[in-house]
Amino acid sequence: MQLMIHSIYSNKDVFLRELVSNASDALDKLRLEKLRDDALDADVSDLHIGIDVDKEARTLTVRDNGIGMSYDEVGQLIGTIANSGTAQFLQELREAKDEAGAEGLIGRFGVGFYSGFMVADEVTLVTRRAGEDRGTRWSSRGEGTYTLEAVDDAPQGTSITLHLKPADPENQLHDYTDPWKIREIVKRYSDFITWPVRMVPEGSAAGDGSDEAPAPETLNSTKALWARPRDEVSDDEYHELYKHIGHDWQDPLETIRLQAEGTFEYQALLFLPAHAPHDLFTRDSKRGVQLYVKRVFIMDDCEALLPPYLRFVKGVVDAADLSLNVSREILQQDRHIEMMRRRLTKKVLSTVKDMKAKDQDRYATFWREFGTVLKEGLVTDPETRDAILAVASFASTHDDTEPTTLKQYVERMKDGQDDIYYLTGESRQAIENSPHMEAFRSRGIEVLLLTDAVDEVWADAVGEYEGKRLRSVAKGQIDLGSEDEDSSDGGREQQAEEYAGLLGWMQEQLDEDIKEVRLSSRLTVSPACIVSDAHDLTPALENMYRAMGQ
Ligand code: ADP
Ligand code: MG
Repeated sequence: MQLMIHSIYSNKDVFLRELVSNASDALDKLRLEKLRDDALDADVSDLHIGIDVDKEARTLTVRDNGIGMSYDEVGQLIGTIANSGTAQFLQELREAKDEAGAEGLIGRFGVGFYSGFMVADEVTLVTRRAGEDRGTRWSSRGEGTYTLEAVDDAPQGTSITLHLKPADPENQLHDYTDPWKIREIVKRYSDFITWPVRMVPEGSAAGDGSDEAPAPETLNSTKALWARPRDEVSDDEYHELYKHIGHDWQDPLETIRLQAEGTFEYQALLFLPAHAPHDLFTRDSKRGVQLYVKRVFIMDDCEALLPPYLRFVKGVVDAADLSLNVSREILQQDRHIEMMRRRLTKKVLSTVKDMKAKDQDRYATFWREFGTVLKEGLVTDPETRDAILAVASFASTHDDTEPTTLKQYVERMKDGQDDIYYLTGESRQAIENSPHMEAFRSRGIEVLLLTDAVDEVWADAVGEYEGKRLRSVAKGQIDLGSEDEDSSDGGREQQAEEYAGLLGWMQEQLDEDIKEVRLSSRLTVSPACIVSDAHDLTPALENMYRAMGQ
């Protein structure tokens, strides 16, 4: 674990953000559970997070009166880190560190709790789950073992006490018993947390001689960012919120706000990340935004609010008129949710369009990271097809590095060219080396070079753009109009006669595998190539379907 800790962190201060985030989650969970089950025996009158420092004992405690954990949960949720210490896990951490400042990428790995061991040589956790009688104490020195015992007198919720290492500012190990330092860190990382984070400034009252404990001070502003006027919120605040909910360590590429009034009111604060998550294309990848109802957290990963091809978008949607008991099933069918999804989709796509118009670099990053996913929408969502095509760009023979839009392609089309040509393949190089390209190259006709698996599917599904057909150069008969008209049809007929014997022989030899052998005008150097019928699957697509078991 020491190895892990040292390979993750560049800034030790983030341990406090992790503990405060966990406490905030625990409070959200309790409030929701209580709203759904009034009989739950839990006190929700003053939900908050408390931070206590004790200079003499050199301890820092982060408390919450949230949902807490049962004995078994502590074992599972807190006690299992040693199991994850595989080589691959470390590898991932190292790679992630290479990518960026690596500042607090912990949440992504579900090891936020353990960040406490950066600044402490012993951590004690006492917790009691809301509604249960007995509590649990967990303690560890972070050396691979821990103790776990039942306790009788634990308050509801969780308190985590760090026995701090000696301060060592040169190694970024600050004095975390200093209230100024605590204030600064909470302000910086946790200002947006919806629960009050309170601290008693003078530390534990013991020993300071006064009778009354000093009044606790609230360190954060506690206002939901999406509910505050736009110009009162700084970019930094938005970005911190993004990092919290997106489990990311980099700033987002774009922040999107939307406010809907009328019969169905809602506020949305969405973010386009700067990089794709590693599980973007796995079946059970996390997707969707957080759903709140009037500032009450309802659920994470609410997939009903955005279509699957926008699954990388992070953020918060706060709907005023939904029931707190709303379920995922109900959301899928709700008419208002459907309207909201359309509106949010439109807004995201128009934001990308603006980005494309104003900031090529950022757009290029966006398209590199998410273009493949967005193109899925061309297949699944005919309604937004045009909006997606407007922001889509593709590699093309027109330029070695700069991608082109369909619009630009059409503007460059030669006189007499009626179709938009493309070829799919594994890589740009593989496509450029394909014999199918020869005739197009020799005639100077531009071809789009499509390398994503989804390209075959959408090109088929979309069919045309501005009245121009999208045509694969590997399919069907292609008449490019001959360069020298004389040798066209008459010449070909004559050639066909001339080669009839050879063609017939080939046909016989290959009869099991092909439909027809014919002379072609699409080649200039290669002797032969394989062509699909216009409506056949291409080999790549056949492979894809086969891989999917169809
Ligand atoms: P993550 O927050 O990314 O899931 P953590 O290591 O921070 O990973 O926490 C692991 C789990 O332990 C949490 O998902 C949560 O279930 C539980 N947990 C941590 N802190 C608390 C807390 N203060 N109250 C209740 N549960 C907690
Ligand atoms: Mg956490």
